[in-house]
Amino acid sequence: MITPIVRQREPATPAYAERVPFKVYTQRDIDRIEALQGLSDAQRFEMKVVSSVLPFRVNQYVIDELIDWNNIPEDAIYQLVFPQRDMLAPGHFERIAGLIRAGADKAELEAAITEVRAELNPHPADQMAMNMPLDAEGNRLDGLQHKYRETVLFFPSQGQTCHSYCSFCFRWAQFVGDKDLRIASSEATQLHDYLRAHTEVTDVLITGGDPMVMKTSHLANYLEPLLEPEFDHIQTVRIGTKALTFWPHRFLGAPDADALIELLERLVEAGKQVAIMAHYNHWKELEPEAAQAAIRRIRSTGAVIRAQGPLIAHINDDPAVWARMWQAQVRLGIVPYYMFVERDTGASRYFEVPLLRAWEIYREAMQQVSGLARTARGPSMSASPGKVEIQGVAEIAGEKVFVLRFIQARNPDWVQRPFFAKYDEHATWLDGLEPAFGERWFWQDEYDALRQEKLAAAE
Ligand SMILES: *Cc1c(COP(=O)(O)O)cnc(C)c1O
Ligand code: SF4
Repeated sequence: MITPIVRQREPATPAYAERVPFKVYTQRDIDRIEALQGLSDAQRFEMKVVSSVLPFRVNQYVIDELIDWNNIPEDAIYQLVFPQRDMLAPGHFERIAGLIRAGADKAELEAAITEVRAELNPHPADQMAMNMPLDAEGNRLDGLQHKYRETVLFFPSQGQTCHSYCSFCFRWAQFVGDKDLRIASSEATQLHDYLRAHTEVTDVLITGGDPMVMKTSHLANYLEPLLEPEFDHIQTVRIGTKALTFWPHRFLGAPDADALIELLERLVEAGKQVAIMAHYNHWKELEPEAAQAAIRRIRSTGAVIRAQGPLIAHINDDPAVWARMWQAQVRLGIVPYYMFVERDTGASRYFEVPLLRAWEIYREAMQQVSGLARTARGPSMSASPGKVEIQGVAEIAGEKVFVLRFIQARNPDWVQRPFFAKYDEHATWLDGLEPAFGERWFWQDEYDALRQEKLAAAE
């Protein structure tokens, strides 16, 4: 057993949270957002149309502290949370706008919205069918995903929302109120039973939505039992969150904050590795004093903050943004972890970046930073067979190719074996790539068989 060093806890700074309590706006409130009063009625109408299809949610902290209102619509954080017309294809936009303008009744509008959503690939990478594990009786465990041997993802039902929504979110389908699309569990026992039975699992990743929207007492119900000896195989508790960006007061002066910090301390003191998997897209998210105070306070518990986030057009498709962000993270004691490729879902038409460009941005950003900031792997696609990294472009036997590798895979044997795709400057996702040299992907047959097996079991 490793005895961790117990540090002095960073004090809370309740001032801001007392002055400005958490206040959130959704689609219905667009006309009540003071900061949007400078937009024309037509612009606000576009926002209402887009946000009737894709989820929209923003809070006062983001509006006040993160957005440069002198630089809209270009401001990166504005693009990160506020809907833009081109997020919908023109046909989709016109269809919904027409119905709203014509004062269509609720049922007709809802039906059209449902159809448009269904055309936006709500379930990328076969998540529902292929990642949900079964219990001993063969029942599907809805709030769990177990794709890679070592790591189980848990989606607590109280954590299936966020303090704000990212306009590009690949989990958007969970937020639009369609129960069929939701992946969530309220069952702590389900989680604990599964982990007890699966001693190969070393990491639990609590995710959402954002688990930090939950009360600390709920989080504790899931996490404290893991301190019992029967869960010694669980070495690492990861918590995926964007609260450090959207509501850092969750860790500072919000009502439940001290209890949360104490929970993290207890986990660390009991010998668990606690990793806060912080979602960041831009260095601007690291600038507010509250954001930095929250980072210090989490680090003072002994938890480690690792940073990951997708590469997104209109927000961070620029090597200088990534280099500055990674440097700022290292300066604040955060470990850069992943650069993701935007998934082929929701508003991907607006946000996607070609794989070639993604790799160039990654490479140019890496060239600008020291080794401590080069720990981010990527650009990585979380595709159905695994996490596939674009390692670069090479010429082999006269053919220009992409060099790829699995960082994570359904079959651990696929990991770290370089493989090759035909060079394609427009492809934005794995399924748009073709194997080079007229071959099949080395993993294709095994993957197909695995897929058949999973789909049959899920029947
Ligand atoms: C990324 C991911 C993980 C964690 O992978 P690491 O490489 O260990 O960070 C686990 N499960 C799923 C489904 C993932 O996409
Ligand atoms: S914080 Fe994460 S889950 Fe929430 S909207 Fe943003 S990307 Fe989606």
